[in-house]
Amino acid sequence: MSQTEMQVWKERLLALRDRLRGEVRQMADTTRTEGGGSSSRLPTHIADLGTDAYDQEFTFQLMENEQEVLDQINASLERIEKGTYGQCEECGARIPSARLVAIPYASMCVKCASDLERG
Ligand SMILES: [Zn+2]
Repeated sequence: MSQTEMQVWKERLLALRDRLRGEVRQMADTTRTEGGGSSSRLPTHIADLGTDAYDQEFTFQLMENEQEVLDQINASLERIEKGTYGQCEECGARIPSARLVAIPYASMCVKCASDLERG
């Protein structure tokens, strides 16, 4: 991959990281104001509506996933610095640009990624 191409991906990854960070911060703010303390001190609207507690749990899961994605984005930015971005970390094959468009932080080609998922 050329330096120019790397630069384009770097900018995309940085933009994606900014967006995710903003979303994670927003979600963390929401959960802090609505949840937090012990169950006896839950705001009445959460105590009354069981579904809100479920929503809260879902938000935490989402935050965890987004943190994972952020880690992968950071790893991708490191690979750009090293000049190995766009190469499969498993087999060294070039990751097709169509895959990078869908997942700019992909570290493996489709084959290796699905091999890994299958175990
Ligand atoms: Zn591979």
